[in-house]
Amino acid sequence: MNTPLIDPFQRAITYLRVSVTDRCDFRCVYCMSENMTFLPKKELLTLEELDRMCSTFIRMGVKKLRITGGEPLVRRDIMTFFNGMARHLEAGDLEELTLTTNGSQLARFAKDLYAAGVRRVNVSLDTLDDEKFAKVTRWGRLPQVMRGLDAAQEAGLKVKLNAVALKGFNEDELFTLTEFCRARGMDLTWIEVMPMGDLGNEDRLDQYWPLTDLRRQLAERYTLTELAERTGGPARYVRLEETGQKIGFITPLTHNFCESCNRVRMTCTGELFMCLGQEDMADLRPALRNHPGDDAPLEAAIHRAIGLKPKGHDFDYSRQRPDGQMSRHMSHTGG
Ligand code: SAM
Ligand code: SF4
Repeated sequence: MNTPLIDPFQRAITYLRVSVTDRCDFRCVYCMSENMTFLPKKELLTLEELDRMCSTFIRMGVKKLRITGGEPLVRRDIMTFFNGMARHLEAGDLEELTLTTNGSQLARFAKDLYAAGVRRVNVSLDTLDDEKFAKVTRWGRLPQVMRGLDAAQEAGLKVKLNAVALKGFNEDELFTLTEFCRARGMDLTWIEVMPMGDLGNEDRLDQYWPLTDLRRQLAERYTLTELAERTGGPARYVRLEETGQKIGFITPLTHNFCESCNRVRMTCTGELFMCLGQEDMADLRPALRNHPGDDAPLEAAIHRAIGLKPKGHDFDYSRQRPDGQMSRHMSHTGG
């Protein structure tokens, strides 16, 4: 008997974000260090295990699945997993299958993703300048991502761009990125940089461009209408009246969304993080691996984990140091 997933604060958990790999073909400065040590392959859930894990969550009421990483499209044979999830879409048990990607592999996979039932993708892109792109991603090349965007749109995927707001880096591209998205019919969401990973080389306080400031600049040129639409996540949206575009703001450092939080995150090793900003996690892998033919222990472990979901996170920049800072990298929990 699968009782729905309701946490101690009466929030229904209907959204699972799954990191399918910790690896990536980029090394974005705010996300990874230059010399990352990745997990040994045997630590990762196999594609079959990922399927079983996600299918269990779907049986327990998860309606929306977002695949992320690391870079999800560098995981070998990842289409086997997407094609497997298609059966839940067809059965109507899953409402949406999406992914967050850096776009580098989209030219290769866009058509197959569409065929598997994916209809929307989030592509992370912080700048439209070749040199700046190479600088912020360290290993990435912009033309490859542009080809990926073309392929995604040609395949019929609706694309949303995610840009991390970085002080002194893409402040001057606020309007060019907005116009780029308007011309291509893409929504745009700005993300406030979070105190993740190690602060060794990059001082996140220096990179912090508050979205309140970004929004004020946007309002100097456009008429902003607040949209009521909420996703249960940390995004708020406005419409630009002059162009009809939707612009999102993800402000994880404010507490404006925890009360409606409907999501949990699973790492590629099967650790379930109940809150992006808390260290508490539940390792679901033993319940999965030790009981190959029986999902009951896994379901019980998931219920126990959801019972531990905290009320909210503790990120706070206000005391001149990134309080509530997490030692794990974003690529581990999958942003
Ligand atoms: N590789 C894929 C990508 O870049 O879209 C998926 C994984 S990536 C970790 C997910 C999102 O997290 C990206 O939009 C990225 O810009 C964002 N991100 C990474 N580190 C971040 C940080 N320190 N603060 C805010 N957003 C961050
Ligand atoms: Fe890779 Fe995405 Fe992290 Fe950039 S943000 S290093 S593309 S996982």
